[in-house]
Amino acid sequence: MFDLTNTCSDTSLDLWGIFDFTIAPPLLFYSYVPIILISLILAFFVLSGERYSLVSKLFFLICLSFSLLLLNEIIQWIAAPVSIVMLGWMLISLFRLIIAILTVYFVFVYIKGKDIDFWMKILFSALYIITLLFISTDLNIIYFDIENCEGAPGVLWDFINLIATLSSVYLVYLTFAHKGIQENSQDRKRNYLVGVGATGFIIFFFLTSAYGDLTEIYDVAIIGPIGMLAFMVSITFAIVKYRAFNIKLAPPVVLVLCLWILVFSLLFINDPTIIHYIEGGTLIPLGFIGISLIKSIRREINSKEEAQRLSSDLQKANVRLQELDKAKSEFVSIASHQLRSPITAISGYASLIREGTYGEITAKLREPLDRIEQSARMMASLIEDYLNVSRIESGNMKYNYSSFSLHTEANHISDDLRPNALKLGLVLLYKQSVAGSGLVSADIGKTQQVIHNLVNNSIKYTPKGAITVYVHDDLSKKRIYVDIIDTGIGMSAETINSIFGKFSRGSKANSVNVTGTGLGLYVALKMALAMGGNITAHSEGEDKGSTFTFELPLG
Ligand code: ADP
Repeated sequence: MFDLTNTCSDTSLDLWGIFDFTIAPPLLFYSYVPIILISLILAFFVLSGERYSLVSKLFFLICLSFSLLLLNEIIQWIAAPVSIVMLGWMLISLFRLIIAILTVYFVFVYIKGKDIDFWMKILFSALYIITLLFISTDLNIIYFDIENCEGAPGVLWDFINLIATLSSVYLVYLTFAHKGIQENSQDRKRNYLVGVGATGFIIFFFLTSAYGDLTEIYDVAIIGPIGMLAFMVSITFAIVKYRAFNIKLAPPVVLVLCLWILVFSLLFINDPTIIHYIEGGTLIPLGFIGISLIKSIRREINSKEEAQRLSSDLQKANVRLQELDKAKSEFVSIASHQLRSPITAISGYASLIREGTYGEITAKLREPLDRIEQSARMMASLIEDYLNVSRIESGNMKYNYSSFSLHTEANHISDDLRPNALKLGLVLLYKQSVAGSGLVSADIGKTQQVIHNLVNNSIKYTPKGAITVYVHDDLSKKRIYVDIIDTGIGMSAETINSIFGKFSRGSKANSVNVTGTGLGLYVALKMALAMGGNITAHSEGEDKGSTFTFELPLG
């Protein structure tokens, strides 16, 4: 495998005889180790917050590849065997490419809220495969200077630097030119923060490493990872301030993490000047995080107080609403009751006059009297509907149960309504196939009202053809059914879904019958359900007729 005898170090070796910790500058550890730790911890937080989202997976992968790249660089600095250092040099291109691709991928998905398209995936895979193919050729590392333990970068490095440059241009475009899926300013600010952080990361990281490659002053590359820190800080800020990733990573956690990492890294440094630099450098970000922490605590307290105030307001409003609702029901009920008596008088007297109780009437008067009676009847039925709705809503609907034969009632109602149907040129048939007694235990008045309403609807909504009232039972289920089948205007699936709602009328209803209120089926269904039954509607579609089925338990 590796030839461990050829080494890059003259001093004595630690750790399995492979690593020499004295060659690396101390800044390497301060720059790399904490950044590896921060990025892995943050990646873990983001992933644990939203395990299944693509953005958090991508973010996790960026952090992971970046940490691996840094680890690879540390190994290059401290590994003594030439073969290990050489391998490290070869892998740099691959890591850099992966980081550039993943960052573009991440920002795209974050800002646009969707996955990249097929061709972009093909492009990314092609770039990856090309890099992989050339990794062990002299296009990647032209030669390796065994004396200094340094490789000479080949054109592949320039190629990847070019990709990084294009990536940062594209990232700037994505961040500023794209409006994003969300329109509000909060989301836009969050997108800017993540986009700018990612772009800063790519530019800073690649610029410093490209500078290192060109000038062969590799110490500059050591500060490159600080670009990652910019990215991390902007992501953390976005998480804390704008709740990016939907995770509740509170500022205290961030503050504690930073302090912990700082103190941990100081353990490795003996030089007091460097410690001063580090402390000075860390003071400013810690100050910022501290202020943000205080602000966020204040915000939290304010929002808690606001929530308490809102909840007590809501309770008051709720009580007031209940009172209003009760008053409304009472008003409707009283108003309807008071309207009912005069309307009954109007229709009664009109009927008596027409029948000649108050003396002969002329033929000319017959029609207006018919109109008065018809309108009064319509108004009475409207008032009845409103009264029923108000009774249902206030829970005051009373049901008087008795035992009666459902098919007898259905037959009677059909007989009563047949003349109305005939007047409109419609046939009204009655059929039954009742194996049992057909006896039900329900409120007879309400049952009549439901059947009457359904048959009447069929007459209203059938311009030509027939209406069939069919009563049948299912003894095994202990149910009896009244089907009202017509050849009328039918209903779309959408209409069927809505017609049982309050004041709900089908889209075609107005063209056939203008006087409806949309309350009939609402009331009928409530009554059927209260008596242990149900009403269902079925239609093959518009103009294909309808079937309404009213069912009750046998008993
Ligand atoms: P209304 O008839 O006063 O509009 P309903 O609650 O009785 O109110 O009916 C609600 C809607 O259901 C009607 O507007 C109509 O669109 C539809 N509908 C009811 N019965 C039928 C039927 N037999 N054929 C087609 N549509 C119907």
